[in-house]
Amino acid sequence: MTRTVPVGGFEVGGDRFLVVAGPCAIETQDQLLTIARDVRRHGASAIRGGVFKMRTDPRSFQGLGPPAVAFVDAARAETGLPFVAEVTSPEQIEVLAGHVDVLQVGSRNMHNTALLKELGRTRLPILLKRGLAARLDEWLMAAEYVVAGGNEAIVLCERGIRTFETETRNTLDLAGAVWARQRSPFPVLVDPSHATGQPDLVAPMCLAAAAAGLDGIMVEVHHESFRALSDGFQALTLERFGDLTASLEPLLRTLGRRL
Ligand code: PEP
Ligand code: MN
Repeated sequence: MTRTVPVGGFEVGGDRFLVVAGPCAIETQDQLLTIARDVRRHGASAIRGGVFKMRTDPRSFQGLGPPAVAFVDAARAETGLPFVAEVTSPEQIEVLAGHVDVLQVGSRNMHNTALLKELGRTRLPILLKRGLAARLDEWLMAAEYVVAGGNEAIVLCERGIRTFETETRNTLDLAGAVWARQRSPFPVLVDPSHATGQPDLVAPMCLAAAAAGLDGIMVEVHHESFRALSDGFQALTLERFGDLTASLEPLLRTLGRRL
C-alpha cells in the first residue's frame, strides 16, 4: 500500500500526478521566476531548482549557494507552488529548511549515510534519488536510514542508472521504479531528464511513467537552454513543457488520475 506524502497542498501518491519542473540550477532571480511562472501556467505542481549542485567536474558551476535562497522565496511567493531543492551536505539542511518544501538527495549522495541520518531528524519530505549504480534493495535501504531517524515522508525518484549503453546519458529503469512502488510504502517519481539526457526522449518517458502507475515526474526546463549553466542540453523549452503536460492530461484521465 503506497503511503501518501504531503507536499504543499498536494498528496504525492494519491490521485494527482506530481509534475516537478524547473531549471537544473538557479542562476538568477529573473531566470528562476521566468521559468517558474511559465511551468505553473502549464500545470506544474512543484518547482525545482538547484541552490547547491554536486557536479562531476570541479570546474563546472556549483550553484549560487545561499544567495539563491531569496530567489526560491520569490518563486514560491509568486507561484504559490512548493519548491524542491537538493541538499548536498548536512550543514545545508538549515540553510534550506523554512525556504523549501522538499529536500532532494541527489544520486551521488544516496549512499551518504551521515546526510540520510540527519534528514531523518527533519520533518520535511525527502525526495530520494536512486544512486547511479545503486541496486533497488540499496535504494530502499537508503530510505530506511531516513525512516529510522523518524521521518517517513519519503518520495523515491528513479533517475536512470549507469549501464553499458552510451547513446543515452543513463538507462531509465522503469521496471525498477514500478518494483520500488510495489515493494515499498513510498510514492515513486521518474526523472527522464537525467535518465536520458535528451529532450526528445523526455516526453515519451513521462507518458510511460504515468501509464505504469507511477506518481509523477521531475523534468528540467529552461527558457534559454543554450546558455544554461548546467545540464542545458537536456532541458525542455517552455513550449515543449507545455506540450508535455497537454499530452499527459488525457492519458491521466483514462487512468483515473489528474495533474
Ligand atoms: C539534479 O536533479 O539536478 C541532479 C543533479 O540529479 P541527480 O542527482 O539525479 O544527478
Ligand atoms: Mn541537472
